[in-house]
Amino acid sequence: MRAPTPVSPVFDYRARLVRAGEALVAAGHASLLVSHLPNLRYLSGLEATAGLGLLTADGRLWLLVDPRYEAAAAERADDVGHDCLTPVPTAGVRVAEWIAGRCVGDGLGSLVLESRVLSLHDARQLEQALGRAGWAGTLIDSPLDLVEGLRRVKDADELACLREGGARLSEVARGVLADRVASIGRTELEVAADIDHRIRAVGFSKPAFDTIVASGPRSAFPHARPTARRLEAGDVVVLDFGGVYGGYCVDLTRTVCLGQPSPDVDRQYRAVLEAHQAGCSAVRPGSTPAQVDGAAREVLVAAGLGEAFGHGTGHGLGLEVHEAPRLAKPRPDDATQPPLEAGVVCTIEPGAYVTGRAGIRIEDDVEVTGTGHQRITDVPLGWPTAQ
Ligand code: ZN
Ligand code: ZN
Repeated sequence: MRAPTPVSPVFDYRARLVRAGEALVAAGHASLLVSHLPNLRYLSGLEATAGLGLLTADGRLWLLVDPRYEAAAAERADDVGHDCLTPVPTAGVRVAEWIAGRCVGDGLGSLVLESRVLSLHDARQLEQALGRAGWAGTLIDSPLDLVEGLRRVKDADELACLREGGARLSEVARGVLADRVASIGRTELEVAADIDHRIRAVGFSKPAFDTIVASGPRSAFPHARPTARRLEAGDVVVLDFGGVYGGYCVDLTRTVCLGQPSPDVDRQYRAVLEAHQAGCSAVRPGSTPAQVDGAAREVLVAAGLGEAFGHGTGHGLGLEVHEAPRLAKPRPDDATQPPLEAGVVCTIEPGAYVTGRAGIRIEDDVEVTGTGHQRITDVPLGWPTAQ
């Protein structure tokens, strides 16, 4: 077993700030109010449950934090450099007024809001403060996803964390299957607790999300929460779990059968497995996320399971367990997503959920390489039958 050593990887935040400033300039804007906390963490390294960042086009970030995070923000500034990262303690400060003052004082011509996450209340307060300050610039309500766009392609240090996370999660999964963690008589909650313990034991700082253990009829619910239901002979059990390593999330699903699967369930499993392989094979530079989704989806449609596959084929992995790209059927209001490129890391997780019979999902994590892809999780793919 790998030593459960927590890691503190060193990331080049200065380079990230420069790139974010360049992205602002390319989009024709003067500043960005960073409200989404994973974006703030990506740019500064600050891990906080509250805070804001004001990013200007020269790549400078003002880090607005309450007293709980003052010391951590000061440490981040010492590390990254005070010339590009400046903590702003907000105790006794009206944050909207401070931002308005900066916009006026620095003559910022525009301010982009991360409108997917900034509350309407905060946006209105800011708008009013800017009005009172006599700011002549333009407030841009935009789902621009500027920082998310940078986060989509991982650098070498991020890839190292994700690959190591993938190897460790695979070790957990192989142990879960070999030790028959999902066995007759145990409750879904007991199985989930056992998996969570194993996740921490191999060095993850925490599970990446609430572990899913969905057994018997409950396997047909794609995101079921574990319950006190006891596993029974013949149950199909979906086990979906992930871990956070060096701040980066990995995510894996295997489906087991406690006994001999019926011919229908067996056919369903083989169709999902074929879709999983088709999805993985479609991952290469230049493929669009919709093409990857289509490759997996058409296998299930051909098997008569198109209606049973209600979610997307996969999602990007990084500081968040669900981030760009979104490998799914395009929604009418979707912005066009760029094609995949080397450094994107995503899941491939087709599933088929048939009420009254079984739900099956198989999920692995793949990295887009210069020529194709490489799987960063490595767990046997056959029908794992565990009693
Ligand atoms: Zn998952
Ligand atoms: Zn997933």
